[in-house]
Amino acid sequence: MSLAERIVKVIYPEGLVCDSCGREAVLMENGFCPECALGAESFINAPYLEGVDGYTAAYIYNDVSSRMVKRLKYGGARYMARPLARAIVLPADWHIDAVVPVPLHYKRFRERGFNQSELISKHLAEINGLELRTDLLERIRPTQQQTALSVSARKRNVKDAFEADEACKGLEILIVDDVRTTGSTLVACAEALRKAGCGRVYAATVCFARTEGG
Ligand SMILES: [Zn+2]
Repeated sequence: MSLAERIVKVIYPEGLVCDSCGREAVLMENGFCPECALGAESFINAPYLEGVDGYTAAYIYNDVSSRMVKRLKYGGARYMARPLARAIVLPADWHIDAVVPVPLHYKRFRERGFNQSELISKHLAEINGLELRTDLLERIRPTQQQTALSVSARKRNVKDAFEADEACKGLEILIVDDVRTTGSTLVACAEALRKAGCGRVYAATVCFARTEGG
């Protein structure tokens, strides 16, 4: 643990402050203060994604859940990865050989210093007794942040941006990301993995953001 992480841990000790708003409170079992627990919306279902055999998420993207993801992604609060991973419940009938985070392009990785999806994947794998594989999928060209783009521009932005290693041949894979909006990133990842010969592809994200037309 770095010094910065230790300081953050002192400021926001896990288990004493709400995972979402960071206030001291009597916490509920899910790590939220009563107010955030009321505001958190559990994921129920989402439209089908092409080439993805199953999808799940922990939360609907709203103020409560997005605060946690943003603290991890932009605030550098790496300790948030564990409670976020814990909130993802994988269906019992998924057979998973490898947990694969949505990769960042190396330039973005260098800027941020970490890949939030990889941190979530690491804990998700640990909690569920699965194998984390960061060597199976690569982002081979830099892409724009999806947030500012339209649905069709998002698809274009990530098309052929990923390449999978042939070591994924025959493996059943769980792709992990922080947020699914249109799902075009997950679809592009699944396409690359299938091209390299993997078996079933599942996807899990912390948040699912409802969009018009899915
Ligand atoms: Zn709260």
